[in-house]
Amino acid sequence: MDDLKNKTNDYWKKNLSPEQYHIMREKGTEPAFSGALYNNHKTGMYMCAACGKPLFSSKTKFDSGSGWPSFDDPINKQNVILKDDDSLEMHRTEVLCRRCGSHLGHVFNDGPKETTGLRYCINSAALNFKPQK
Ligand code: FE
Repeated sequence: MDDLKNKTNDYWKKNLSPEQYHIMREKGTEPAFSGALYNNHKTGMYMCAACGKPLFSSKTKFDSGSGWPSFDDPINKQNVILKDDDSLEMHRTEVLCRRCGSHLGHVFNDGPKETTGLRYCINSAALNFKPQK
């Protein structure tokens, strides 16, 4: 699994939907309120849609009103990479999957103050949800 960072664009085109490919491999963003998971309130785990790595627990999900799934913490900071992103003439922090290098979304400092103060704003299309049995 650890060679996933070296997979070709062809590999990802075959293994992701066109929407997932655009978001995860070309750093796209799905339209707000369009995704399958922003309004998901079930208990379970959110995994990277490209490689299956567990990334966020439903325990850290909150309703940010942004239209994208929002979390105040990853399940383990080692599972994600944070990277400066100065595209679109603004400074943001990009969130990527540590295992496969896929783009997930961005993290902002306007999350719940009572916990981490962070808002991991993640594309629905970059996540697969596994309900807890
Ligand atoms: Fe991944």
